[in-house]
Amino acid sequence: MPSFPQPSTNDASTRHLSAVAIEKVYMKGQHRIPVLRGVEMHAHRGEFLSIVGQSGSGKSTLLHLMGLLDQPTVGEVRLRCEGADGKPTETLRVDNLPAATRDVLRNRVFGFIFQFYHLLPELNVLENVLAPLMIRDSTMRYWKNRREYRDQANAIIEQVGLSHRLKHRPSELSGGEMQRAAIARALVARPEILLADEPTGNLDAQTGRGIMELLCSLNEEHGLTIVMVTHDDAIAKQSHRIVRLANGNVERLEKAA
Ligand code: ADP
Ligand code: MG
Repeated sequence: MPSFPQPSTNDASTRHLSAVAIEKVYMKGQHRIPVLRGVEMHAHRGEFLSIVGQSGSGKSTLLHLMGLLDQPTVGEVRLRCEGADGKPTETLRVDNLPAATRDVLRNRVFGFIFQFYHLLPELNVLENVLAPLMIRDSTMRYWKNRREYRDQANAIIEQVGLSHRLKHRPSELSGGEMQRAAIARALVARPEILLADEPTGNLDAQTGRGIMELLCSLNEEHGLTIVMVTHDDAIAKQSHRIVRLANGNVERLEKAA
């Protein structure tokens, strides 16, 4: 297996996904709730980056902004995605694109995983993993490519170690297996960047370690850029680099041990 070198974080040309002077204010009736107050951070291509901070420090908010699930009040999200030749293109501001363009980018560039998996309860593992391709494609296109997609889904399910659970529904899986299914679903459309919000937050320590090993191997063997939110410093230390949020800002950047 090839092992991708750890990127240099001083090199601006390897920046993959950036938050630039991001502010986020939620409105609750007449009340302004400032959550992020000028956050600046960069995830480099092939990097496994953690965002840590206390509950309520704005970790999920920042991850959602970077994944185009929400828009900043002030500031920019910038993306340097791959062109058709697989080489990085120029850096684009993406947070202010039309909603339909953001939808397309979100589906093509990002994979998401969450603490509570968000699998569809009526579908089995294989169907859950195929769902993003069904949603992305027209019925005609999906039908035409269905065999290839099935092979693609089977391959990724094998990679996450779940081939023996293909026909199981989420209610028939353990927590760790549900997260593995969610990781397979997040990766089936071959995203460049995986965004993970407390992916081990609902798992016991040993199962959580298994999920972290899987994420580390996806990063090392496939060069997948990962941005992971966690409140658990021990989990964060397994990534390349840690960004700590406090008082709406990046308190410090730490190198993981
Ligand atoms: P974390 O993930 O670090 O626990 P969040 O990003 O979820 O923090 O939330 C940060 C703060 O923003 C919290 O005080 C939370 O209550 C508030 N918040 C989050 N989402 C919303 C929303 N949609 N509307 C209003 N306030 C919100
Ligand atoms: Mg959160």
